[in-house]
Amino acid sequence: MACHVPKTINVDRGIGAKCKRGDSIPKEGKGKARKGKGRLEDRLLFKDKLAWEGISRREERTVEEFALGYKSFLTEAKGLREVVARIVAMAREAGFVELSSVQKLVPGARVYATNRGKSVTLAVMGRRPLAEGGLVVASHADAPRLDLKQRPLYEDGATHLALMRTHYYGGIKKYQWTSHPMSLHGAVSLASGSTVEFSIGEAPGDPVFTVPDLLPHLWGKSQATRKADEVLKGEELHLVVGSRPIDDPKAKERVKLAVLDHLNRSHGIIEEDLISAEVEAVPAGPARDVGFDRSLVGAYAQDDRSCVYTSLRAILGVRAPERTCIAVVVDKEEIGSESNTSMKSRFFLNFLEDILVLQGATHPERELWRSLRLSRCLSADVNAGLDPVFKDVHEQQNAAVLGRGIVLTKYTGGGGKYNASDATAEYMGEVRRLLNAKRVRWQYGAMGKVDEGGGGTVAKFLAEFDMDVLDVGPALLSMHSPFELSSKVDIYHTYKAFAAFYGMR
Ligand code: MN
Ligand code: MN
Repeated sequence: MACHVPKTINVDRGIGAKCKRGDSIPKEGKGKARKGKGRLEDRLLFKDKLAWEGISRREERTVEEFALGYKSFLTEAKGLREVVARIVAMAREAGFVELSSVQKLVPGARVYATNRGKSVTLAVMGRRPLAEGGLVVASHADAPRLDLKQRPLYEDGATHLALMRTHYYGGIKKYQWTSHPMSLHGAVSLASGSTVEFSIGEAPGDPVFTVPDLLPHLWGKSQATRKADEVLKGEELHLVVGSRPIDDPKAKERVKLAVLDHLNRSHGIIEEDLISAEVEAVPAGPARDVGFDRSLVGAYAQDDRSCVYTSLRAILGVRAPERTCIAVVVDKEEIGSESNTSMKSRFFLNFLEDILVLQGATHPERELWRSLRLSRCLSADVNAGLDPVFKDVHEQQNAAVLGRGIVLTKYTGGGGKYNASDATAEYMGEVRRLLNAKRVRWQYGAMGKVDEGGGGTVAKFLAEFDMDVLDVGPALLSMHSPFELSSKVDIYHTYKAFAAFYGMR
């Protein structure tokens, strides 16, 4: 049987570029029994195998190099707007231009559009017009965090500490977010009408902020008796932001005033400005290698910036594709895809419609819906890795394991598959065959036991457009914590999967 690894794929030169003689990819049966030589076990059983096994030296280096870029991406852009700005910078460097500046779109043209600085869509024009359908990878850049309230700042009268009240964003275990260095990332719309953006707590020498927690010596009768989800309550997540008063004995709340004075001197901010602001507190510090063998990455926001980065790298590498390739990076997935920067926003459809118009569509609205119907999509989001301690929440045969490659998930949701986006057998088969042909390491994984809980992604909103959608992405441990864990080999195969997908005809 022929080796199906294509010569044109530029996913990497490290892996699978050459096939050894005798390598073969089994042909899928067409309803007939598969005949073959060799042991029954080898021919019939689906094997769970770590993607590290059988890895060549060269491939190992490729995985490591890819992880380096990934860690920089996670480290150098922590706030949502910073992530979007970084994506735009990387895209521009790779020849992408703003869609609004384009008069004509030829095959191979590379365009992008941002939505309010909080989401971005990129596309590379195919040889076939978009009206015949595109290839969409959709991920999200928002991550759980502590947002400042609109009136955050106060001075505690007894301790003379200046604190900021927060409102947590997304699903978090609140106790994990205390006693941890935090950085602030904000956009403030000033009285003057201009917007200032800032990031404090990531550069070397920057101060950080923190949510203090009670000492164990005194927690026995109060905090220790609380249930885990109330160890710290939502209204107890206050950031310490100062403790030194201004030098004016007559002024009230002198520590609070000193903080405002600092904000005013550095960014021209007054207290009322914070009402028209979006300021995120996120765990400070860089992405790190984890383990003696450095095989894992530990970092904040790998849900879902692992998919943002891998899909971005994949689309930046696309040249003259058959079909138009699209990477969607949205906001607000963590709170149900509400708001105008989310997957539910009309922004995505407007982007496609603008492309269709530039490609000469006479009935763009009608062609948009036809194009959507003919499009295929990967909903790129992370999945739960089998937890080594709390195995009981998983059904192990259908759970993802770190290091076994990108996870395919047929349906999400909870209970009796409620709120699931459920891919068809045929589409799942198409993706599975593609990944096998391109030698992408993949595994099957569902989120937890039946009735244990559940989760969702943007898949169901894309499915509403009548396109085929499948959930894929790497597995994580400690998801939604300040320090999520992924496997470097999974991140690399996630990238390979998206690159292979963009090569579909
Ligand atoms: Mn996610
Ligand atoms: Mn999430």
